[in-house]
Amino acid sequence: MADAFDVIVIGAGPAGLSAARAAASAGKRVALVDNQARPGGQVWRHDLRHGQPADARRVIDALPADVHRLADTQVVAATTDELLLQNDAGGFTLAWTSLVIATGGRELLMPFPGWTLPGVTGAGGLQALAKQGWPLAGRRVVIAGSGPLLLAAAATARRHGAQVLAIAEQASPTDVNRFAASLWRWPGKLAQAVALRTRLAGVPYRTDTLAVAAHGGDRVDAVELRGPGGVDRIDCDLLAVGYGLVPQMELADALGCTSASEGAHRHVAVDARQATSVVGVYAAGEACGIGGRDCALVEGEIAGLAAAGVTPSPTLLRRRDHARAFAARLNTHFALRDAVRALPDPQTIVCRCEDVTWEQLQAHAGSRAAKLGTRCGMGACQGRVCGGALAELRHFHRGAPRPPVFPARLATLGEPQPFDSSVYPGVHP
Ligand SMILES: Cc1cc2nc3c(=O)[nH]c(=O)nc-3n(C[C@H](O)[C@H](O)[C@H](O)COP(=O)(O)OP(=O)(O)OC[C@H]3O[C@@H](n4cnc5c(N)ncnc54)[C@H](O)[C@@H]3O)c2cc1C
Repeated sequence: MADAFDVIVIGAGPAGLSAARAAASAGKRVALVDNQARPGGQVWRHDLRHGQPADARRVIDALPADVHRLADTQVVAATTDELLLQNDAGGFTLAWTSLVIATGGRELLMPFPGWTLPGVTGAGGLQALAKQGWPLAGRRVVIAGSGPLLLAAAATARRHGAQVLAIAEQASPTDVNRFAASLWRWPGKLAQAVALRTRLAGVPYRTDTLAVAAHGGDRVDAVELRGPGGVDRIDCDLLAVGYGLVPQMELADALGCTSASEGAHRHVAVDARQATSVVGVYAAGEACGIGGRDCALVEGEIAGLAAAGVTPSPTLLRRRDHARAFAARLNTHFALRDAVRALPDPQTIVCRCEDVTWEQLQAHAGSRAAKLGTRCGMGACQGRVCGGALAELRHFHRGAPRPPVFPARLATLGEPQPFDSSVYPGVHP
């Protein structure tokens, strides 16, 4: 039997969970698809040792039991009436009439000498690895880059027994202090910041400081931090460097949704009801611009209601605007400084899948020319890592992706079956 859903939500992070709940509460038959085994997205990724925080459990437990949750399932292509999905059971198509894109963001990694050494990860990447069981106990960790995610990553590393030697923030002390001073307008954020600083008591937090080089033979064993006082070399076992997040745009692009730019990066453009430019497609959370968990939750609720044909209340819209105002502050005070863009030297690898150096990219004026001339962005990650960096470094922008937008098995492409809920029964948290 082929099934149909009224609303399909892609992504089970805060935005997607909230959207699925809102649409189901409006009486709609809802499917929630996510490529992770457990719901929660990035911020609430299940921690094998410590579980999920209480606020995550509250949101996950509130998901109505009749939401058909497809876990460990990736949407690899999207057309105007159908999604192509794959999981361990195979590939299948799922017809849609109303869609919520809640695919979140990914970390912005900026190249610098030594960044491809084993033991160097993103800041959120280190956090994800720790939660998935990578042993950190006793390891000396330096965390660098920009934004509040550095504190969250450091707190997770410490909780898993790592010795966090330093947090290096590229933003100036003035920006960091102004950001902190504005937090009273978002009491929940203020409480989170205070809690994080308490958990990180004793860890040096250096502003105006960059990780300029990672050193080591087989793996990283030291990092150079450059700050107002000069360059410091710190011995470490792990180095985690992340410059915030960028929206995941592939599916919205594949569907033809209009995007808007924020600095060097694009996000899905939405109206007040979180509707995109494509009829029946809504978007919420980091896909619409990096805004944090609270913003994702409220945008998800608005998108879920709108997708279900319910007009969101003015109160909800005001809460969303307030949350987005926080995002704007975040972007202003932690904006990337030019010094970060000056980090690669000629031999620094920029596309790590195809080993393309910064020097090799100089001859090419755009993303397509660089691809044709160097294979930059054509490796396993399909430009998901170097694409963000090159948007910052060279204003290179990738065009809309060709389907499949994520790696797919031949069987998924060749013999997808129509979705059948007796074959894909769905799971419940
Ligand atoms: C690595 C990382 C770590 C982070 N850690 C923190 C933190 O500690 N604290 C904090 O406040 N914020 C953190 N953030 C920011 C945080 O992600 C957001 O603020 C919040 O989770 C946004 O919610 P969201 O629902 O928009 O997206 P997400 O939480 O990112 O959820 C999106 C979900 O969609 C799924 N997905 C994406 N594409 C597909 C597809 N094609 N098919 C199926 N599923 C798909 C993803 O796997 C994910 O589960 C982190 C972000 C990242 C990238």
